[in-house]
Amino acid sequence: MTTDKYADEIESVLLDEESIRERIAEMAATVGERYADVEKEVVLVAVLKGAAIFVSDFARALPIPSEMEFMAVSSYGSSTSSSGVVRILKDLDRDIADRDVIIVEDIIDSGLTLSWLMRNLRTRNPRSLEIVTLLRKPDAVKADLDILEIGFDIPNEFVVGYGLDFAERYRDLPYIGRLHPRMYS
Ligand code: 5GP
Ligand code: MG
Ligand code: MG
Repeated sequence: MTTDKYADEIESVLLDEESIRERIAEMAATVGERYADVEKEVVLVAVLKGAAIFVSDFARALPIPSEMEFMAVSSYGSSTSSSGVVRILKDLDRDIADRDVIIVEDIIDSGLTLSWLMRNLRTRNPRSLEIVTLLRKPDAVKADLDILEIGFDIPNEFVVGYGLDFAERYRDLPYIGRLHPRMYS
């Protein structure tokens, strides 16, 4: 894949567009079956900005109706890792009491942000609360999170594309790849 707009900056492709699309279709089918009998629409809660691309594809692949909510949080830490200390920049627009809620994440690394978010959303008394993530890194196992669906387990390396950024770049890349090392300096 060398004809794309960031070709010079990406060292290699980890997950191409077709693999991502196929896996999301499988995940959506599984999740759709599990929630087939809920009374109200499931509420997808995506964490901005990384999960924006994934949630839009996931929601469209879901065989059941869903509502889409967004949260923006800032975790105090560097741009490539998080500390678990979280502040809400944008909260949900709606009450989720008694609703079936699925947090939709782009990637789980330390899992600190997500652990905080689970605790926070649980206090709002949803009927159910689950996590769906496109990517998971090895450290995530330490976080003791119960995850409903994982798209791909990936190695412990920094990836960009399909919503994931480096200094706000590459979110618009349709696949997931490794940055060329010279882009870090
Ligand atoms: P955690 O709290 O699980 O350590 O942090 C997850 C967040 O860190 C993700 O939502 C993402 O913003 C960022 N992150 C973790 N790993 C990567 C990566 O490989 N690439 C990019 N672009 N962001 C990552
Ligand atoms: Mg995220
Ligand atoms: Mg980022």
